[in-house]
Amino acid sequence: MSLMNDTGFAAAVWHGAGDIRIECRPRVPLKPGEVRLKVSLCGICGSDVHEFRDGPHAIPVATPHAVSGEIAPLVIGHEFAGEIIEAAADVDLAPGTRVAVEPEYRCDRCAACRRGEYNLCVAMGFAGLMGSGGMAEEAVLPSYMLHPLPDTVTDRQAAVLEPAAVALHALRRGRVRAGDTVAVAGAGPIGLLIAQLARIAGARRVIVSDVSDARLAMARSLGATDTVNAASGDLATVANGVDVAFEAVGTQATLDAAIASVRKGGRVVFVGLCSGRVSIDGFDLVNREVEIIPSVGYRDVYPDLIGMIAGGLFDPSRIVTREIALASAVTEGFARLATPGQDVKILINPSPKGARS
Ligand SMILES: [Zn+2]
Ligand SMILES: [Zn+2]
Repeated sequence: MSLMNDTGFAAAVWHGAGDIRIECRPRVPLKPGEVRLKVSLCGICGSDVHEFRDGPHAIPVATPHAVSGEIAPLVIGHEFAGEIIEAAADVDLAPGTRVAVEPEYRCDRCAACRRGEYNLCVAMGFAGLMGSGGMAEEAVLPSYMLHPLPDTVTDRQAAVLEPAAVALHALRRGRVRAGDTVAVAGAGPIGLLIAQLARIAGARRVIVSDVSDARLAMARSLGATDTVNAASGDLATVANGVDVAFEAVGTQATLDAAIASVRKGGRVVFVGLCSGRVSIDGFDLVNREVEIIPSVGYRDVYPDLIGMIAGGLFDPSRIVTREIALASAVTEGFARLATPGQDVKILINPSPKGARS
């Protein structure tokens, strides 16, 4: 099914919880600084599934987002790549250029943006959550989000760059170095990519826990040295005092497991998004001088990741378990990920069956 025509294109549009529709969106003229992409692939993120299951969480429904100026209903999807088909006159990128999208909005004026910490922008947000994204045949984006791709980076790898960026930023926040021992609580896409990148960074041991044996098997194939099924085992017992632990789910149980897994003076990087408050044993943290380090989004990691992929050091597309057409995004994508199963990363192909130019 293609809804693309002279004036519009097909897109997965979030209207409300349980209500994502594949519909035709009008093609709007570009504003200065903007680029139009033909999307090659777009991944479904855990946060997209949250918006589908019981949103809105991040999607603006009452007030338009400060940078995007948009409000629901909007095109969902922030993990995507594509090819430039049109660029505003002031943009220095030519049509035909393949690009990865770093979907964080930035205002460029606030103190965080001026420090270069654009992931902490006062108007922080993501194209595909706080503004129109890439689960569509086309997307319009500010050009600062785009990173040109060498031919040696595939569309599949490019579509998984965004979760890999979350993982690499988390590793940098945790100051993981060669020889370190690492624990990862949760083997979803982010936990798996953290485990894979930790090994590439030279971590000597990487212990991963999850309740899915299929995901733990994938963790081992990506380089995890030990895995623990949290339904029957205990991450902290196996980890036995690692240097750095990552919480990659966003629950009390996984945060507890991560904190219990680090040595005295160890670091816990908190990556998962909790929907409410969590409690922490302050006495234990002080006594063991455990550092809690939150990590959100990413900054300055795309060029390094693209170089690692192009150089054959890293392949984030190994977490992809399924590629589906845009028309079945809800039935074969969101619905599948909203219930526990074998899938890790599902990619949406808006132009399947060789229709891509
Ligand atoms: Zn994501
Ligand atoms: Zn800013």
